[in-house]
Formats: sequence, C-alpha cells, structure tokens
Amino acid sequence: MNTEKSAALYARAVEVMPGGNSRTAVYSSPYPVYIRSGSGARVTDADGVERLDFLNNSTTLIHGHAHPELVKAIAEAVGRGTSFGMPTPVEVEYAEALTARNETFEHVRFTSSGTEAVMMAIQAARAHTRRPKIAKIAGAYHGAYDAVAVNNDGSGSLISHAVTGNPEGVVANTVVIPFNDPEGALAVLREHAADLACVLIDPVPWRIGLVPADKEYLDALRAFCDESGAVLISDEVGSYRVGYHGALRLLGGEADLTVLGKVVGGGMPIGAVAGRREVMRVFDPSQGAPALPHSGSYNANPVSMASGVASLRLLTPEAVERIGELGERLRTAMRGTIEETGLDWRVNGLGSLFRVLATSAPEGYASPAAAMKRLYWVLLDHGVHIGDSGLGCVSTPMGDAEVEEFGAAFGASLRQVLAEGRG
Ligand code: PMP
Repeated sequence: MNTEKSAALYARAVEVMPGGNSRTAVYSSPYPVYIRSGSGARVTDADGVERLDFLNNSTTLIHGHAHPELVKAIAEAVGRGTSFGMPTPVEVEYAEALTARNETFEHVRFTSSGTEAVMMAIQAARAHTRRPKIAKIAGAYHGAYDAVAVNNDGSGSLISHAVTGNPEGVVANTVVIPFNDPEGALAVLREHAADLACVLIDPVPWRIGLVPADKEYLDALRAFCDESGAVLISDEVGSYRVGYHGALRLLGGEADLTVLGKVVGGGMPIGAVAGRREVMRVFDPSQGAPALPHSGSYNANPVSMASGVASLRLLTPEAVERIGELGERLRTAMRGTIEETGLDWRVNGLGSLFRVLATSAPEGYASPAAAMKRLYWVLLDHGVHIGDSGLGCVSTPMGDAEVEEFGAAFGASLRQVLAEGRG
C-alpha cells in the first residue's frame, strides 16, 4: 500500500503536535493515512488512493462527503458572514426543525460539539435538581468532559476510574451502573438516589459493543428517575441516526433531555441539548439571571445551523429506513463471512450503525485488538475504510453497489488477516 505522502506528513506532524496528533481516535500506528478530499461515499488519501468510506468521520457524515445540497447551504451561509454577536434567523429555523422531530424535544439549546452538549445537559440536570452526582453506564463514552471521562474505556468494569489527572471529587461524583442489567443498575442508583442529578445513557453505546438497550432496562431507569427526581439524559450524539425520532424512541424509552450532535449538523461542528421545558428552563435568561448561564462564541453558529437545516431536510423517514436496511444487509453479510472462517467474532449494531467485535485472538495474534488493527489496515488495502475499533456506518449516498463492494472486501480482508496469522 503506497502511503508515502502520509508518512511524510506525519514526519512533519510529530514536530509540531504531541505524537503528531490532535484527536486520539484518528491516530494509527505507525502513522495515520491522511485524507485529501471526499465525495459521496468515497475519500481520496494524500497519495491519491480512493476508498469507500464506511467510517464517515466516526458516523457523523450521514450524507457522505461534500453532498451538493450541504455544500450549497454551507457556502451560502459563509457568504452571509460566519458568526455574529447577535442571534440569526437560521437559528430559529433549525430549532423549529429539530423540535419537530420528537415531542420530548420541547426546547433546544445549541453548542459546537457533542462533548459540550453532554457537559451542558449534565450542568442543566445539576442546576435543575441542585444535586451533585451523575450516573453513567460502565465503559460508555460521552465525550471529553471530566465528569464523563470516568470509566469510559469500554472495559465495562463497575468501578469508577478516571483519566489521569481527573480530580478525586469528580470521580466520586460519577457513579457507574451496569448495562442492560435492570436490577444491578437499580441497586447502584438506589444507593445514591438522594444525590443523583441525572442518569446519563447512550441507548446504543458504541464503545461497549453497540448493543441496543433493552426495553426492560430503559423502563427501570425511567421509573427510577420518576421516583427520585433525577433527570434521564439520552446521549444520542452517535445513535440518533438509527431512527427518525432518535434512538431512545425507537427502543421504546423516553428521556427528559436528549443530547444531539454529529449527523444533525450536516458535517459542521454541532451539539444540541433538547428536552422538557421544565428542565430546559435553567437556561432561560428572560426572567432574570438564569440558574445556568450558558454562553459560547459559536453557540448556534449560523453556518452550522444552515448546514443542520439542510442535513435534516435530507434525513427523511424513508432515508433513515433505507440506510437502516442497508446496515442490516451489511451486518448479515459480515456475520456470514465470520461464520465461514470459524471465528466467534460478533457483529452488532442497529439501523445504519455497525460494529465488528473481535472477541478472541486468532492464531498468530497477541490479542483480539491486534487482529482488529490488522484487519483495519488490510481493509484499507482492499479499498475500504472503517474504524480500527470495528465501528462503521452506512451513509445516504450509498446503495446496493457499495454494500456489495464492502462485503467482498471484508471477506477477502478477513481471510488475509487469518492467513497472515497462521504464517
Ligand atoms: N457522546 C457520544 C455518545 C459520542 O459518540 C461522542 C463522539 N463520538 C460524543 C458524545 C462527543 O461528541 P463530539 O465528538 O462532537 O464532541
């Protein structure tokens, strides 16, 4: 695989960025492949090699790369000016479009990233309840805010543990519940009930395997929140794309606050907190100083808003359903290939999202993760890009041809990985 230009770029990058990197998730050893451009379902790397992109910026680009309608909306917005110290009409239009998608999205508030939106949802829950603690699912990822940078490593261990340097007070205020275990979760929640501001979930948590939450589990968390007064927050930054009304609604649950990001911004930086007026009221500055003042130079940025309006317009119920069906076909094809090879690996997901989970180390590999990393590189060599954790998704410019191309590349790549291991 020719990656000469990527190697040269990385040699320059390490001189000016720690490890040559500005986003942990895109680092790959010995160096990442640098992307020059993208169009529709494909990206072209720095060396001019074109590939099918099933990662779509970590599942963000539901309409693929440089979709003509999004490019037009963004270019027009940029032409009108990139940001102002006053609100803009498009902010109202976008808020109307988002709140129309789900009746629990009564009011909405914008940020520039999913991380910030999770942070604001937690702070809103704290301001609303005047309680300090949050509960989150063991191992689940919710961005970089320190309160959720606790037990976010996918390990699923039931011990609160933080990234290096996260203060003890923060760790003590984040309690961890097991996933899809109603009784186990309730046991932890009841212990902290009086202090809990919120229960934060991702209904399809990708880092712990992309298995959807069970209805029984969701009902138990809803009942706990109703009883205790804690706010139920559904972080759908990654999972909103599985249903027109979002992930929780599809799975039969109902949140007080929903955190949105990624797909709702059409590729521009975005985050949003949407939810019940009663909780969202903490942001309201119209009745005197708000309980939770929230500013940000790029909140409701007009370019992101315009891109978001265009993205939502393209994201019709039919489009969501179509890419969901393609996702199901992909998962079935991958499971078939895995079964043929005799591996016990799993393929999880819902709608347009999938994750290949390496659950055992094949012959010749030190760990399941090592085999997955090798699969990532071999897939690139076969013209397909997914995440090196096995995460991927379908975008709306894709159709039968892309699914078939993926299936063939996946089969050939997995067989090559296994053959290399056997030496
Ligand atoms: N929550 C979830 C569930 C996510 O998957 C992510 C990003 N992968 C975030 C929050 C953070 O969003 P952002 O990367 O836009 O800060």
